[in-house]
Amino acid sequence: MNLKMGIDSYKPGWEIVLKQIGVSFDQFSLSDKISPDKYSVLIITEPHTSKENKVIDEFLNAGGAVLYSDNSILDRISYKTRKVRFLCSEENTPFSQVGLVDIYSTIRIARSNNIKTIDSKLNILSADYGTNLILPFNINELILNCNSRRKKFYANRKELPSEIVAEVSKGKLRKIVEKSLEYLHHKRDLPFVHLWHQPHIDKNLFIFRLDTDFCSKKDAGEMYKICESNNISATWFLDTDSNDRLNNYALMKNQEMAIHCDKHYVYDNLEDNYNNILKAEQKIKKCGIKANGFAAPFGDWNYSLDKAMQKMELKYSSEFTLDYDDLPFYSYYNNEFSKILQIPIHPISMGRLRRSHFSENEMLQYYIDLINEKLKFGEPVIIYHHPHHKHFDIFDKIFQFVNSKNFGNMSMNEFNKWWEERYKLEPEFQYVDNRLSVKFDSENVCIKISITDGFTISQEKNIQIDKIMLKPHFKTIIKHDVKRIRKFHLRDLLYNHESRRSREYFSKD
Ligand SMILES: [Zn+2]
Repeated sequence: MNLKMGIDSYKPGWEIVLKQIGVSFDQFSLSDKISPDKYSVLIITEPHTSKENKVIDEFLNAGGAVLYSDNSILDRISYKTRKVRFLCSEENTPFSQVGLVDIYSTIRIARSNNIKTIDSKLNILSADYGTNLILPFNINELILNCNSRRKKFYANRKELPSEIVAEVSKGKLRKIVEKSLEYLHHKRDLPFVHLWHQPHIDKNLFIFRLDTDFCSKKDAGEMYKICESNNISATWFLDTDSNDRLNNYALMKNQEMAIHCDKHYVYDNLEDNYNNILKAEQKIKKCGIKANGFAAPFGDWNYSLDKAMQKMELKYSSEFTLDYDDLPFYSYYNNEFSKILQIPIHPISMGRLRRSHFSENEMLQYYIDLINEKLKFGEPVIIYHHPHHKHFDIFDKIFQFVNSKNFGNMSMNEFNKWWEERYKLEPEFQYVDNRLSVKFDSENVCIKISITDGFTISQEKNIQIDKIMLKPHFKTIIKHDVKRIRKFHLRDLLYNHESRRSREYFSKD
């Protein structure tokens, strides 16, 4: 039995999500009968002819499982469309962990007597023939969406922090797809197996990013001291506008240096973006610094910026207006994948907390809550700071907390290199008589095996499934007041005005 997903047509948004999850997948043909041993789940994204639909039905009748999404239900079941800003998952469903997901798009809700609800709030349904799920979203379009907007983030206090970030919560949609595939495997009594998304088998990943805009030599020194004393290798994105301090960064040990900008601005054309990065690179080169990575001013991203980074032969970048709180991916635009690996971070910095009037204790608590939540779900923690904003004591405490928990620290480039290795793998998972055999060419990547009763992360290539030591599945309690993060406040307009003014200031020569 092949533990493999088949998809009906080539879709870059789906490729991004399936590579992030790390499942085995390829495109299948509906011209012939498909055995349920060949694919564990078929993903249907398009309407099909009645002959092709018969092949899908036969696959379902023979015990296969199907995930319907995007435009697939159009030819089969009547539906209604609804414009939604966001949805919020229901308690005690396979999707509870997802929480609030921003959509800002039209969803399609299937309507028929023969349909049962799996998550009534997310509108995830199942038709009563065979093992299947129907998603109301166009996953492909939503994953490729490049719009951004101001969003508030949850905290245990009244006034919430906000930032201009990617409009669609792509990380949450990826989670919905992962949970759907896991649910369908378990319904078939099969293990759900995929490449693990963290480098360490037993540790969570912690990455710390620094943007050096307006940073004095003294502030940089203080920040470095705290990184050093806590054994944290940070990645410093250098603002090269002030030449006199660059030599200082070259002297730091066990820290990665990368490019933020020369002029603190993202242009809307290739030439200006290229020249800006080139100028920054020439300045750091003089100090003996070689950069592999880039993080754009204001977290802004556009196609011409991506082109400029490719022309500069950079390896990775990190822009939260493209994506945040998600796993790395190669962006897709104008019919091509970028060669630059996008590494999403958590976009709320100390500066944003300060602007929303957080006290020092509340700032620390915000990050402790965030780290605990990511730790609970086995997700990498990637946070950032401007040393210019100081708050060194809080970071000292955050690092001490990280070191007291089960974390492994990497620089952004180390994670980029590891992800690149993972990305190239084309794993095969065979499951016969309770035995899983795993085939892919790397000793540095683990797998996650999930069965109904729990899961494990493993490095083995040959595993007796009923002998594995299981950890319990992640359990979530949905925050009852999470919807308040999408309630409009007049302050949002003020912050938008400030952001515009700040960009305008830097756009001038
Ligand atoms: Zn900046």
